[in-house]
Amino acid sequence: MIGPMDLLNTLVDKGLRRASPTREEALAVLATTDDELLDVVAAAGKVRRHWFGRRVKLNYLVNLKSGLCPEDCSYCSQRLGSKAGVLNYTWLKPGEAAEAAHAGVAGGAKRVCLVASGRGPTDRDVERVAATIAAIKDKNEDVEICACLGFLSERQAERLREAGAHAYNHNLNTSEETYADICTTHGFEDRVDTVRKAKHAGLSACSGLIAGMGESDADLVDVIFALRELDVDSVPVNFLIPFEGTPLGEQWHLTPQRCLRILALARFVCPDVEVRLSAGREIHLRTLQPLALHIVNSIFLGDYLTSEGQAGKADLEMITDAGFEVEEAGTTTLPEHRTGVPAAEPAPAGAPPGGRADLVAIRRRGAGTDLPPNA
Ligand code: SF4
Repeated sequence: MIGPMDLLNTLVDKGLRRASPTREEALAVLATTDDELLDVVAAAGKVRRHWFGRRVKLNYLVNLKSGLCPEDCSYCSQRLGSKAGVLNYTWLKPGEAAEAAHAGVAGGAKRVCLVASGRGPTDRDVERVAATIAAIKDKNEDVEICACLGFLSERQAERLREAGAHAYNHNLNTSEETYADICTTHGFEDRVDTVRKAKHAGLSACSGLIAGMGESDADLVDVIFALRELDVDSVPVNFLIPFEGTPLGEQWHLTPQRCLRILALARFVCPDVEVRLSAGREIHLRTLQPLALHIVNSIFLGDYLTSEGQAGKADLEMITDAGFEVEEAGTTTLPEHRTGVPAAEPAPAGAPPGGRADLVAIRRRGAGTDLPPNA
């Protein structure tokens, strides 16, 4: 059996050459021990830095239409019959969506993700989204727009591209073999079909997975290899948020260590694509979030579709403290061989950060006060 350091050296070598790990190597990443975890992160970090330097791309979600979906995806708080108590509203007006998007861009986001619940858009819905894209670009010309509207026809994909969308997101979520366990109203192949249509229309394909739904290591390896096979440009890795009132509301399977292994798996199998740490990072990685930045090159800023994320300011501080930098508008995220655009030069070392006097909070609770201690 191959030892852990030989395994990691092989994976780094393959990652730098864009060669695929074998299935056994991929499974072995998920089987590493906690004692080996920092070596796994360091190895994935070498691949990450080779293709993306120390840049972190920020993405911002705008939920255009929330809840009341007719589909029954068991992980989703917006599903048919959900009792999760999430916001339910119909399409935001273009101006309202543009205002929300503007807040994200002002916070440092270079991509805005326009998401709507539902099986797929009508042609009228696509026109609404086209008007929304125009309203956002009117204020923020350079922002990348990704749409996520469910199943698309070829014509709808083309229309979104014409309207100025840069990318389309449609996640595969889990392996083909277990897809029927998480959803009965559509299948894995339906999802693959929409990713292919988006690519065919010239949209950059964004497709990822959700971990923590009770899947096996083999399922995770299957879905990540399926994403490599589809040759998508970005891979969001979500960790299940078990919403009470949904069928998966009691599924708490993940540890911070397992989350890091899953992210490393994504980086080794898809070395030169945008691996995005997505929903659930705060609740599952918790204090280990900064370690994940050594593996992924992209995160969401702010809130998720139906749940709140940590404060945007905390994200920005985490990035700086971990020695990374926010990717600027005008920088091409992907390496030159994927886009034809020369890769960004690494940023020169910045000035050492100033002191953080704002973090010194005089104790006003606990001993010597009438308030309980912070314990
Ligand atoms: S994931 Fe999308 S299609 Fe599935 S229930 Fe949620 S909103 Fe509907």
